[in-house]
Amino acid sequence: MHEDVERILFNEEQILAGIDRVAEEVTRTYRGRDFTVVSVLKGSCVFASDLIRRIPIPLELAFVSASSYGAGTESGDLALNFFPAESEISGRNLLLVDDILDTGRTLARLVDELRRRGAAEVRTCVFLDKPARRAVDFRADFRVFEVADLFVVGYGLDFAGRYRNLPFVGALKKECYERSASTAR
Ligand code: 5GP
Ligand code: MG
Repeated sequence: MHEDVERILFNEEQILAGIDRVAEEVTRTYRGRDFTVVSVLKGSCVFASDLIRRIPIPLELAFVSASSYGAGTESGDLALNFFPAESEISGRNLLLVDDILDTGRTLARLVDELRRRGAAEVRTCVFLDKPARRAVDFRADFRVFEVADLFVVGYGLDFAGRYRNLPFVGALKKECYERSASTAR
């Protein structure tokens, strides 16, 4: 455990078992078809790298970067920092992978943008899903775990840039985000 973590929600063993399950669903969906896993940086890099190693069929890998401006644990305006080359999107079947589906704004925006840029098909896969917080109508095609409405860190998820390297998912102690409420995540 880590001194800033209130409690562990999912440990390493549970995470890998959950990913095995979703990797099988993804494999069934794409068997016999070309597809590209598009990992949304930075948060999904840990999840995406574990996920792709459990998918035994051919795939390509690409990255996009999305970050919300704004303070603390609320998401603000979205900045899409870069996209893969046109040739990596146009006419391709894309599986957009993110760390957590919260309000849904990030993925809704990215799906629209990738379709606008000519993707043949866009599906989504999230590590965590927080349905209680949804602000736009959005559903992921694949998800590993559902979580309650609380701020979590670890396994790629950060607070103010930290905790991404924790091998588990935990709830951050309240005093940790109240202490640094002015820092963007
Ligand atoms: P959405 O656009 O769905 O509201 O937000 C998605 C992004 O918000 C995620 O990719 C993640 O960066 C951030 N986010 C939402 N909920 C949490 C959370 O509980 N913990 C952390 N660390 N980030 C979160
Ligand atoms: Mg993120």
